[in-house]
Amino acid sequence: MKEKTTDLHRCWAEIDLAAFERNVRSIQSAIPPEVHYIAVVKANAYGHGLPQIVRRLMQCGVDYFAVANTTEAAEIRQMGIGWPILILSPVLPEEMDCLIEDDLISTVSCAEEAVQLNALGKRRGIPMKAHLKVDTGMGRLGIWYEQALALIHTIDGMPDISLEGIYTHFSSADTDAAYTAKQRERFIQVLEKAGQRDWLVHADNSAGLESYTSDTSFNAVRMGLLQFGVHPYPDSALGRVSVEPVISFHSRIGLIKNLPAGTPISYNKTYTLEKDSTIGILTAGYGDGVPLGLSNCGHVLIRGQRCPILGRVTMDQTVVDLTGGRSVQVGDRATFIGNDPEQPLPVAEVSKAATSIPWETLCNITKRVVRTYTGMREM
Ligand SMILES: *Cc1c(COP(=O)(O)O)cnc(C)c1O
Repeated sequence: MKEKTTDLHRCWAEIDLAAFERNVRSIQSAIPPEVHYIAVVKANAYGHGLPQIVRRLMQCGVDYFAVANTTEAAEIRQMGIGWPILILSPVLPEEMDCLIEDDLISTVSCAEEAVQLNALGKRRGIPMKAHLKVDTGMGRLGIWYEQALALIHTIDGMPDISLEGIYTHFSSADTDAAYTAKQRERFIQVLEKAGQRDWLVHADNSAGLESYTSDTSFNAVRMGLLQFGVHPYPDSALGRVSVEPVISFHSRIGLIKNLPAGTPISYNKTYTLEKDSTIGILTAGYGDGVPLGLSNCGHVLIRGQRCPILGRVTMDQTVVDLTGGRSVQVGDRATFIGNDPEQPLPVAEVSKAATSIPWETLCNITKRVVRTYTGMREM
C-alpha cells in the first residue's frame, strides 16, 4: 500500500478531482449537448468542499449552479460573475437583499413569494430572476400542479419578475418508476397549458437521469449525487452512466490494547467481548462524521483487512476489533469510506450498514475532517 506519512492526519478525506471530472464528463455525454447541466453543489458540495468542486465544474464548462441558500450562493458568486445560480430552498425575508447583491435566481412556490419578489424587483429597478417550482407529488416545495397555471398567469402580470425557468422534483426516482412517470406526466400537463415559453425546464435529479430520454421537452437536468460517483440505486446493477468514487474517508489507530473476554465496549454496554481480544481505538467518531449507525455493525479497512466496529461509535473515537489479524501498529490508517479498487468500501455500502443514505453520509463529514485534494488541474 502506497502511503506517505505527510498525507496522514487524525482524520481526513481525500477528494480525487480528476475522478470527479471524469464523472462530470460522463454525465455530460449522457445528455444531449443542448441540455443544460445544472450542478447541484449544496451542503458544501455534498461534503466535498464547495470552492474546489465549483472551480472544477467551471473548468468542465458547466454553466449553471444550484444551492440551498444565499450563503452558499455568495461563495460561488465570489468565484465568478456571470454564472447563473439557482436557490433551491425558500429565501427568508431577511435574506432577500442577497438575491440582489449576488444576482441570484430564486424559486417561487406561491403567490405570496411572487408578490415579495416583484416588490423587490420594483425597488431595485431591474426584474428579479426566478424559476417557478411545481409540486407534482413530492409534497414539499412548489405550487401544487393543478394550481400552477393560475400562478403562472399571476406572475405574467408582474413586471418586476423575470420568470426564466420552471421545474419539479421527483420524490421516488430511485425507487418507483411508475410514480416518477406520473410526476413527469403532471409536469408536462402544466407545460402544455402554459404554452410556448422561453424557459429553462428541468426535472431530473441523479436518479431521474437513468430514465431520462431526450424526447422530453425538458432542456436541463439537476445533478447532485451522481457527480460524486455514487449511484442513487444501491441495490441495482450500475446505471447507464458510469461513474467512479471521488471521496475516501480515513482516520488512524490511536491506541491498541488487549482486553479479557466479558469486557463491555464503549457506552451503554451494547457489546461485550466474546473472547480475549485486541482492540484498536481510532481517532475519529461521529463528531467527524462516522455514522452513529455503524455502531456494532460497520467495518473499517486497516492494512487491507476488514475490522468490525465494536460497541457504540462515540464523538471522537471508534473502537474496532483487531484480534487475530495481521500485525498493526499505532498510527496505521483506518478507512471508513474507501475507493481503492482492490479493497473498496463504497459510500453506498457504508450508508446501508448505517441504515442511512449516501447523501447524508457525505454531508455529515464534518468541518474537523481535513480535506486533501488530488488530481488538480493546471489553470
Ligand atoms: C439536492 C437536489 C437535487 C440533486 O439531487 P441528487 O439526487 O443528489 O442528484 C436536485 N434537485 C433538487 C431540488 C434538490 O434539492
